[in-house]
Amino acid sequence: MPFNGVLSDKVGIVFGVANKWSIAWGIAKKLHDAGMTLVFTYQGERMKDPVTKLVETEMPGSILLDCDVTNDEQVESVFKEVDAKFGKLHTLVHAVAFAKKEDLAGNFIDTSREGFLLAHNVSAYSLTLVSKHASPLMEKNGGGSIMTLTYLGGERVVKNYNVMGVAKAALDMSVRYLASDLGPKGIRVNAISAGPIKTTAARGISGFSDILAYMEDHTPMKRNVTQDEIGGTGFYLACDELSSGVTGEIIHVDAGFHSVGF
Ligand code: NAP
Repeated sequence: MPFNGVLSDKVGIVFGVANKWSIAWGIAKKLHDAGMTLVFTYQGERMKDPVTKLVETEMPGSILLDCDVTNDEQVESVFKEVDAKFGKLHTLVHAVAFAKKEDLAGNFIDTSREGFLLAHNVSAYSLTLVSKHASPLMEKNGGGSIMTLTYLGGERVVKNYNVMGVAKAALDMSVRYLASDLGPKGIRVNAISAGPIKTTAARGISGFSDILAYMEDHTPMKRNVTQDEIGGTGFYLACDELSSGVTGEIIHVDAGFHSVGF
């Protein structure tokens, strides 16, 4: 592609690769193809082997670090390691979310306090935490790009999305406040609002295959989006040559679904 090597002097960190279907993996592939050096985090020993196998097969030489984003010490230590190894950071991909399965079905009104706080802790607060640790490293090279993954269920009611929709609304607003805080340092913060993609996390949402089928009939483009298309937008956000004036933005990559009524 015409962008080969355009990110070759850059370092990025990717949170949220579980397997080859992960949206984060789609973005990582585009960044890697453009020459970026990547650091991947995985959550705990359970994910170490599968994520290591995937990364070492397809992107040998990448760094892998253990990080549960609800653990302050682990998050801090990840960025210390990036600083020690590279002394700089250009791009951060935050593609992490979690809610209890029972909170992704039925009525939102039944969400427990514990389920509400868990979903917000993992899926929304973690962006602020990683941004705080990433920003001094990004400042060293005059700025950087932070991106997260959100969903239309944070703007409108989507059946069964429930507490995750409320967490995504918090995430979307966090993007804007973080963009405001970090803009003077040359750090841009944006979100990609992805259309539904069959991933491990998405399968936890009750009736997810019905959503995929509905989209094929109701998006302006009469189809679903691909992991590769989300990856392309991730590349655009990472690439200063393309998106240097874009921050605080929620970019919908959903075949236009956000734009239609009924
Ligand atoms: P995925 O492949 O299952 O990725 C979700 C990732 O979050 C996994 O790597 C998971 O790790 C990680 N995670 C969960 N809790 C964590 C924690 N405490 N610490 C660190 N990592 C944790 O699913 P995905 O669909 O690509 O999700 C990525 C992002 O895209 C999410 O924010 C999701 O809401 C968003 N999104 C997805 C869709 C869609 O239709 N798929 C649409 C719009 C937005 P484990 O596997 O170890 O739990």
